[in-house]
Amino acid sequence: MIITRIGVIGAGTMGHGIAQACAVCGIAVTMVDVAQPAVDRGLKSVAASLERLVKKDKLSEADRDAALARITGSTSYDDLKDLPLVIEAATENEALKVKILQQLDALLGPDAIVATNTSSISITKLAAATKRPDRFIGMHFFNPVPMMALVEIIRGLQTSDTTHEMVRDLAVRLGKSPITVKNAPGFVVNRILVPMINEAFFVLAEGLASPEDIDAGMRLGTNHPIGPLALADLIGLDVCLAVMNVYVDEFNDSKYRPCPLLKEMVAAGWLGRKTGRGVYTY
Ligand code: NAD
Repeated sequence: MIITRIGVIGAGTMGHGIAQACAVCGIAVTMVDVAQPAVDRGLKSVAASLERLVKKDKLSEADRDAALARITGSTSYDDLKDLPLVIEAATENEALKVKILQQLDALLGPDAIVATNTSSISITKLAAATKRPDRFIGMHFFNPVPMMALVEIIRGLQTSDTTHEMVRDLAVRLGKSPITVKNAPGFVVNRILVPMINEAFFVLAEGLASPEDIDAGMRLGTNHPIGPLALADLIGLDVCLAVMNVYVDEFNDSKYRPCPLLKEMVAAGWLGRKTGRGVYTY
């Protein structure tokens, strides 16, 4: 089945990006958030993002207008009724996501697929909270969605082959390069990335090099576009620490212990760009 209509839950950073990526590829999107101002902000962000593409000659004005016309904003879950696929991109909170999934169970048809964009919650566990565990899957987009090529497709223990194939096909239609991952904390990218950032804090704490030299080393020596410490500032030091703590809890392996310097900086409220100070000062 070719998917021509989808629902997106959440109109925030990821939700509106997913809605835009789908609409540009000819898919009609119903984007639902809890309150009208959030829906309006999401629609405005899509319009602004498409406008930037027009200015860079990457999108025609006609295609911009057509994409915008394909997105309907709503505050009512009833508008998701009968859709074959819904992508959940609401706030990262397990209880909230379970509640949303149960609302969807009551609304969607028996064959509908539900995908979640969660970064850290177990797909297997969320699937078990639904009435459609075989038609439930992780679809982990990266920020900013319209620019980033990767989608991690995460199979829970219960996910069926048909669900996996449909969602993988959709990712390819969106122009993305999907990778398929078994459910596990951090999936693939964050499992490798966040311990690397944590190790950069150990290197910094041991005084092996200055922050600038650590970042330059990783940029120039491994072709990363940004060094790990600058990236930590961008992601948020609190987010990096929270992810390491999840690995400690889930794997019970000391190799994931968070660096004391990272903990100390989070305790000081030096969380990175969002607080004006992290490893660097902004
Ligand atoms: P965000 O805070 O920007 O947006 C979340 C939106 O969900 C808000 O607009 C909020 O009003 C809405 N919401 C809350 N409860 C809702 C409900 N019951 N129904 C509908 N909408 C509801 O968050 P975000 O950064 O877009 O993150 C969304 C999801 O994507 C999270 O699961 C997060 O882990 C994941 N994610 C985020 C990133 C990132 O870089 N921001 C990257 C990959 C995955």
